[in-house]
Amino acid sequence: MNPLYANMPTTIFEHMSALSRETGAINLGQGFPDSNGPEDVIAAAARALSEASNQYPPMPGLASLRQAVADHYRHHHAVDLDWQQEVVVTSGATEALAAAILALVTPGDEVVLIQPMYDAYLPLVLRAGGVPRFVTLQPPEWRITREALEAAFTPKTRLVLLNNPINPSATVVPADDLALLAQFVTAADAVVVSDEVWEHVVFDGRAHQSILGVPGLRDRAVKIGSGGKIFAMTGWKVGWTCAAPAITRVIAKAHQFLTFTTPPNLQAGIAYGLSKEDSYFAAMRADFARSRDRLTDGLTAAGWSVLPSAGTYFLSVDLIASGVHLDDVTFCERLVREFGVAAIPISAFYTEDAVRHVARLCFAKTDATLDAAIPRLALAR
Ligand code: PMP
Ligand code: GLN
Repeated sequence: MNPLYANMPTTIFEHMSALSRETGAINLGQGFPDSNGPEDVIAAAARALSEASNQYPPMPGLASLRQAVADHYRHHHAVDLDWQQEVVVTSGATEALAAAILALVTPGDEVVLIQPMYDAYLPLVLRAGGVPRFVTLQPPEWRITREALEAAFTPKTRLVLLNNPINPSATVVPADDLALLAQFVTAADAVVVSDEVWEHVVFDGRAHQSILGVPGLRDRAVKIGSGGKIFAMTGWKVGWTCAAPAITRVIAKAHQFLTFTTPPNLQAGIAYGLSKEDSYFAAMRADFARSRDRLTDGLTAAGWSVLPSAGTYFLSVDLIASGVHLDDVTFCERLVREFGVAAIPISAFYTEDAVRHVARLCFAKTDATLDAAIPRLALAR
């Protein structure tokens, strides 16, 4: 057995969701909305299930979805993609990450990881034989600094893994930080994989900047997207990679022996959804922003110190600033068992130099769920 997996704990998301089910807690841990997703997108997938082919779709994805991805990004992010040569559909962003990392990392290559980082990144890099080098972001600003990049990059750096907007810090990477990163990536002749699954969930008038539009990175970047995230249907594992043809060809080779393809009806549903009007995406953002404000206001009124959320389904509380002198793991275990709310300790997103005084809460919930959670969280301070 491979010790990497044999010695690995179950993910913090599954652990907290299982605890939440066991204890009957309100689950503000794992990030998923408690709505079911847009009905017309579901209907489009249902139509495809009964009216279109249920046999293997093309390995790189349905033409209609690859075209829709290219059209969507041309419209929303001013990025031009050749849908035939630059888009591969995967089974969720998770498979896109696996395919990109397997395709781009040769054993011994150094990979720069930016902490806090989504929990799938490090195990995939290690399995590919990559050697991790960490850049650590600190609350409340979570900025990428020149000093941290200088310390992490070496002549062996081949890949950088970026997440923007960042889960769990709920920040949008500033344009200056992207430009700084671009200087290092270019100088190292490296490639950057940018996990942009939260691209549409940004608030207060912010615009998402895709890595493919950062000067100097068009041909040395892989952008990853997720239909499940864009349409708040996290169980739909439909993702994709977008990258220059030379990179895409190699990612497709890795993808063909991971999953080969993704259920065609779900691909058809997402293809339909990506052409929705701007007003749909604006309304979705406004809805999530309203939930964010509801939870922020309730927590603030209860004396919690809330770190601002610029995007994603998440906000965080600063335990020290809130007068709670427990580490994040102890606090989250107590919160779920004694107060009936599941949250995620931020330290789970670090491998070294972990921040241990911040807990993440998911606000992508109905008002009733948030209103039930707030008094419980008030008691937990
Ligand atoms: N990357 C990040 C940063 C995420 O937050 C998530 C899930 N929330 C994923 C990847 C996984 O996306 P998918 O469900 O499409 O595999
Ligand atoms: N991305 C989700 C989160 O951050 C969880 C996904 C998962 O459970 N693997 O909560």
